[in-house]
Amino acid sequence: MIFSRCSTRRTRYPAKAVEAPRPQPPPYLEDEMDIPYGYCHCGCGQKTSIAKESNRKLGHVKGEPVKHLVGHGSRLFPPPIEDAPPFRIEGVYCRLIPLTKGEYAVVWEVDYIYLMQWRWSARWNPQTRSFYAERTIFIDGKIKHRSMANELLRLEHGVIVDHRNHVTLDYRRANLRPVTHTQNMWNQRTRKRKYDLPRGVYPTQRGFGVGIRNNGKYIHLGFVKDPQLGGEIYKAAVLRLRGKEFS
Ligand SMILES: [Zn+2]
Repeated sequence: MIFSRCSTRRTRYPAKAVEAPRPQPPPYLEDEMDIPYGYCHCGCGQKTSIAKESNRKLGHVKGEPVKHLVGHGSRLFPPPIEDAPPFRIEGVYCRLIPLTKGEYAVVWEVDYIYLMQWRWSARWNPQTRSFYAERTIFIDGKIKHRSMANELLRLEHGVIVDHRNHVTLDYRRANLRPVTHTQNMWNQRTRKRKYDLPRGVYPTQRGFGVGIRNNGKYIHLGFVKDPQLGGEIYKAAVLRLRGKEFS
């Protein structure tokens, strides 16, 4: 390009069309933090691996340590906190956490900020035909999913948490309880039954039989004429065997 002295245009670069201001990510904390060479830029204090290949898209340079540990790049970009007003459920203030697939999880207002430090996704469970909230974590370099309930109750990865009311996106503390696999099975929704009878009651040639399964063993509770009475007997047995919490 020739720049003549008598040119009326003094700018070195041709004028560009004015672009609309792009939404900028939140200020990068990295500039304020003193990250030593070879350490993760999220500030977690862990060493990163050496790039085996250069990758312009990921910003990797062959032979140089990579910027972040896997999954740590998004740590500085948590989801935006919305100023939607909290609403009350059973007298406790609650808020909604956006998930992927257009789903939302309900949490208590006190847990909202803690949980909003991560991005959450909705996972469809075809067995229970319902959504669950989880986030992606890395354990020994493998992708795992940590449930919102585990995160909320500060439980170890993989502990089963039961939703008392069976609403699986209801992550209010009052609705969650850590359970064993067996206890979780007790709280299953009643499946389609062959006969329209109370739980634990089955028809016999003369009247009805009542029984309950406990620790894999079947306990016979007797025969009755009235199926409703049989249902009561079954409920009493449930209370005796499983306690008040699960009856
Ligand atoms: Zn990190």
